[in-house]
Amino acid sequence: MEATDHLKASLGAAVGLANVFGAGWRQGKPAAEPDADDVRDVLRLTTDRVGEVDVAEYASGGTQLYDALERLPDGDVDGAVALINDLLRATKAAPQLTRREGAPWHLHFGSPDAATGWIAEFATATAMLLGSDEIHRLRRCEATRCDDLFLDSTRNRTQRFCSTACQNRTKVAAHRARSA
Ligand SMILES: [Zn+2]
Repeated sequence: MEATDHLKASLGAAVGLANVFGAGWRQGKPAAEPDADDVRDVLRLTTDRVGEVDVAEYASGGTQLYDALERLPDGDVDGAVALINDLLRATKAAPQLTRREGAPWHLHFGSPDAATGWIAEFATATAMLLGSDEIHRLRRCEATRCDDLFLDSTRNRTQRFCSTACQNRTKVAAHRARSA
């Protein structure tokens, strides 16, 4: 594992948590009220130790992550930075090495046993994105009725949709429009 792999995983989780709390529409449907399983699915992107989750503890951090990240496709980097700096301060994000008995040391930016610790970690991962030339990889799904954000992983930066579901939905709609 490279030193930054864990932060990359946490960046994916940050975008996932942002979508859970911030997207009004997801893949053609109005977003459901976030529940503990939604948060656990997100945490599993970056850790294999996911215990009980109180969804309320993730709500304001998740919403703020979305508010920050959704500014990037519109080019409002300064606005995103202000919100992420706020979140870093509020969660007291600070690097610290932790480990489980017998496991290798692991760099975290807050306690992996607390919601605030994960929000601190996700804010840090987002801060690394904001300070890099990868910033343009953060995109908003172009499908109708979908507010999901995603990280474009294609080499030539051509990904337009959050998922194949949205890609197919858009294709079908375009086909219908042509044959109508
Ligand atoms: Zn989508």
